[in-house]
Amino acid sequence: GRQVKRQYWIGLGVVVREYASLSHLHKQYFGFPGEILMRMLKLVILPLIISSMITGVAALDSEVSGKIGLRAVVYYFSTTIIAVILGIVLVMTIKPGVSQEAEHIDRTGTTPNVTTVDTLLDLVRNMFPENLLQACFQQVTVINITKDYKIVGSYSDGINVLGLIVFCVAFGLVIGKMGERGRILLEFFDALNEATMRLVQIIMCYMPVGILFLIAAKIIEVEDWEIFRKMGLYMVTVLSGLAIHSTICLPLIYFAIVRKNPYTFTLGMAQALVTALMISSSSATLPVTFRCAEENLRIDKRITRFVLPVGATINMDGTALYEAVAAIFIAQLNDYSLDVGQIVTISITATVASIGAAGVPNAGLVTMVIVLTAVGLPANDVTLIVAVDWLLDRFRTMINVLGDAYGAGIVQKLSRRELERMDITSDVDVTNPF
Ligand code: ASP
Repeated sequence: GRQVKRQYWIGLGVVVREYASLSHLHKQYFGFPGEILMRMLKLVILPLIISSMITGVAALDSEVSGKIGLRAVVYYFSTTIIAVILGIVLVMTIKPGVSQEAEHIDRTGTTPNVTTVDTLLDLVRNMFPENLLQACFQQVTVINITKDYKIVGSYSDGINVLGLIVFCVAFGLVIGKMGERGRILLEFFDALNEATMRLVQIIMCYMPVGILFLIAAKIIEVEDWEIFRKMGLYMVTVLSGLAIHSTICLPLIYFAIVRKNPYTFTLGMAQALVTALMISSSSATLPVTFRCAEENLRIDKRITRFVLPVGATINMDGTALYEAVAAIFIAQLNDYSLDVGQIVTISITATVASIGAAGVPNAGLVTMVIVLTAVGLPANDVTLIVAVDWLLDRFRTMINVLGDAYGAGIVQKLSRRELERMDITSDVDVTNPF
């Protein structure tokens, strides 16, 4: 026994020593399996969004899809506003920024230039891509955070999800109206959807390994644990807001409308939530969100195909809550008192900023600038909260994904009459799960 124990400790020591002396390059190697998981998930987003949106819209008649779309939008808005209000109430009660010296947090660094009008114009511009192929690999702003917490804006190839969604909705509507000839296309995209979901199923087998390495690589990488103590109360505020929103607000709304146990619902989404937590991107989590919603929760495919992709791009409860808390936290650090008008401005801009944020890591940090400038706070102060964003980003992404899923469940319940009526009249079967 002893012998074995000693060996065990020696082994552990070696591992720890290895960790401590890992070079930057080695750390990168360590993150490699996780990187591959991210790449695979992102790979299936494109066929998934196109096939699900087109079939989702075409399978419904335009009147029904209009109604479902309207219900989804009402849901997105109201839950986002609830999240913002919750965040404001918490940050005004906990006051994480009051009587805390701001000096100890480095506030040098550059901030990307974003204004409200630019963001709104960009949002609308993105809805109308001028080239369909280009929309599939459009340049999107991503931010990188350097070792000393400087924000570096850069461009990377992404997908203009919003533009594709708008196109697919229009295309789906047209196909739905084409009758017999449209059915060929509908069946093609339906088969594409099924094939993509089968690929997702294969990726899910690799997921535990990829996720394990993602966590390990992140833990090795973090050098400044001290910052958590400094920013403690602020993080507690954001995290408790997210916790309340996801365990009380959303479940209450769900229960009030659907009359089923909301926690079984959350449990059914577990795999998607863990994925969101690990990769901090709602878009990249989308394939898993789909699978959980359709496979575990048996939500009607005609609803998920519509509500989930749109939700992943515009419905971000977690991000909205976070932006409101962060803005008021920064005001408190600056000893800047906000009047009622400014607090209302914060709630509106935080909502806009969450809609404008893309479903990619740290996107909310960039659109944060909108909220700050709207109430006259220095945009540069966004650098105060950069250091802990990698952690908060994960949790808010998780709540963003959960909000989309609840949306699908609720819209399904509200639309059950239309869906039943369609089951009788339609003979194209896109409801039957796997
Ligand atoms: N990472 C978040 C998401 O993908 C967006 C954000 O930065 O708040 O949902």
